[in-house]
Amino acid sequence: MKKNEVTSTCCYCGVGCGVKVQLDTHDLVTVTGDGDHPVNRGKLCSKGMNLQYTVNDRSDRLHYPQMRYHRNMPLQRVSWDDVLTRTAAVFRTLISTYGPDSVAFYASGQCLTEEYYVVNKLMKGFIGSNNIDTNSRLCMSSAVAAYKMSLGEDSVPICYDDIELADCLLIEGGNPAWCHPILWRRVEAHKAENPKTRIIVVDPRKTDSASIADIHLQIQPGTDMVLNYAIGRLLIENGDIDVDFIENHTEGFAAYKARVFERTVAEAAWICRVPEGEIRQAASFIGASKSLLTLWTMGLNQSVKGVDKNLSLIDLNLITGRIGKPGSGPFSLTGQPNAMGGREVGGLANLLPAHRDLKNEAHRREVADFWGGTVLSDKPGLTATEMFDALADGKLKAIWILCTNPLTSLPDARKVEQALKNAKFVVVQEISNKPQTLDYADVILPAAGWAEKEGTMTNSERRISHLHKIIDPPGEALPDAEIICRFAQKMGYSGFDYATPEAIYREHTRLTASTSIQVNGLDYALIDSHRTIQWPYRKRRNAGTPRLFEDHRFYTPTKKAIIHSPDTEMASEQPDADFPFILTTGRIRDQWHTMTKTGKVSKLKQHISEPLLEIHPNDAERLGIKERQLVEITSRRGNVRVKATISNVIKPGCVFLPMHWGKQWGSDLNRANNLTNPLIDPVSREPDFKFCAVRVVPYQKK
Ligand code: SF4
Repeated sequence: MKKNEVTSTCCYCGVGCGVKVQLDTHDLVTVTGDGDHPVNRGKLCSKGMNLQYTVNDRSDRLHYPQMRYHRNMPLQRVSWDDVLTRTAAVFRTLISTYGPDSVAFYASGQCLTEEYYVVNKLMKGFIGSNNIDTNSRLCMSSAVAAYKMSLGEDSVPICYDDIELADCLLIEGGNPAWCHPILWRRVEAHKAENPKTRIIVVDPRKTDSASIADIHLQIQPGTDMVLNYAIGRLLIENGDIDVDFIENHTEGFAAYKARVFERTVAEAAWICRVPEGEIRQAASFIGASKSLLTLWTMGLNQSVKGVDKNLSLIDLNLITGRIGKPGSGPFSLTGQPNAMGGREVGGLANLLPAHRDLKNEAHRREVADFWGGTVLSDKPGLTATEMFDALADGKLKAIWILCTNPLTSLPDARKVEQALKNAKFVVVQEISNKPQTLDYADVILPAAGWAEKEGTMTNSERRISHLHKIIDPPGEALPDAEIICRFAQKMGYSGFDYATPEAIYREHTRLTASTSIQVNGLDYALIDSHRTIQWPYRKRRNAGTPRLFEDHRFYTPTKKAIIHSPDTEMASEQPDADFPFILTTGRIRDQWHTMTKTGKVSKLKQHISEPLLEIHPNDAERLGIKERQLVEITSRRGNVRVKATISNVIKPGCVFLPMHWGKQWGSDLNRANNLTNPLIDPVSREPDFKFCAVRVVPYQKK
């Protein structure tokens, strides 16, 4: 390692690419791919390659705490001591008047594990409420619930090396070519070297990922389960299931078989609007393969039926026995860089640390005793959208938002605006002055950014990495964990006087002893000595665990995996005469979330520089819409005005809008979430971002 150089991990997506960060004599950083890192082997995608420009441009950074003494007064610069003393006084008053459930913390999958750990400990262990949730709720909570229901715990069973070992990859509801680019390069290279590897892509859009597929099933949005069951039926009919595995290691097959035989393949093809022959071909590819890697992301997760969709895909691995074997398993691609770390520490409203169960009294007592705070509440906390609903109706009084921008990223943005207006007290902990959410803050706390603090993250394959600090944060900005710990001490709580981030990490690892995620014994030096390590950590062998369930013993009480067979009834808002199009939203290749970081880099605007509504040529012609013409899109919740791009990437009757833009990048009329529906999955509480009914017309100036 050179002088003034540290290793770290890219702060964008859940792939978790390793980087080297160098600091020059002018305090500017250079970021390059780490050739020794097992995930990316030196490669970076456009976002990772341009990370240095985001770090070096500090023009938007928040430098000191600000506070307003009354809603109608302007924000003023204050000291850390004053801001935290007053914030603690407000929280104490609200808690004593209305109870602990009157306050909430809303965090992010971009927080480091240590940050997640302390905010979760503060809220659940000391304030005494489970009102702590994160924007990971918008991203992977359906996968968490489905893993738990089918495998017994939230455990991604595969490792990235399974990509090169798979002879069939079924990619559903994801566009990794744009959203997980470095993993995608591994898929592309594998296909190029092994042309007989079968790639099946299921997506309503002809994405870049679909371009190398042997079959692209361009299904009607929302029909994934119908397709998965049709494939399941064909695998059973063709004798391509693993009877031995099903009998010895699963439960629920009889009900599943009855479910998938309720509908013929021809009927399924009609519902999915794909040729029956393509479904048969996909099933025969899976049947003929020796291994099967199923990959998915937001297309399945972000749905009112998100958990059921996940289960129906995991079922295909279970009935074929392709799990816990090289090149096989269900693999949910995590969106955010440390959504997995948040899951480990139990940083969601319905979780406890290390996969403990909120409803289990012994688990609650164990955690409460470990933390030494109050008794843990068994009442599940408010989840992301529920927090803002509760603010709107006055049940929730205060919210502390850290490292996320809900006014742009939550569904039905106008409702979120109303909720924040209605809140008695809003704290925003942020690195940038850009997010629109700041407009509603009573208190602004400046946070340190990536490369300005130390901690750990865990990527999509359970790989833990240690991120080193190389540069001081600007002005008085502080690392997020330090802000939370200082606040906890102002509240009078003990157990938050950590000397270093590593002290927090060690405490977290002790809490994982004897659990399925077991990282007890790890510390920063040990992680560094491995460069990265996958949980569970085998202390005696000083080794991680690349693949789970190789013994086919699952985490359920019977040690058998559960094959689920929920119904396929549509629950999303359906198009009608007033709102005839299906809107689906998502990411573009070179932007990240609400563009607080990537929006600063001009190079990243070269790919797509503005939000464009993707519409099929037939629909555009019928509506008289020309390329780059301004159009108005309206749903039952709001409207958006952006230019159209006419493309056969999208199916007729459907339109696509990127989710990144908002007022901070022009006008809030470019914000996709003005339109989206706040419907949530009943189990995972993940919103239905991929399906709502809209009307599209050419924009006429009134
Ligand atoms: Fe960063 Fe993800 Fe790109 Fe890797 S693939 S460089 S983690 S954004």
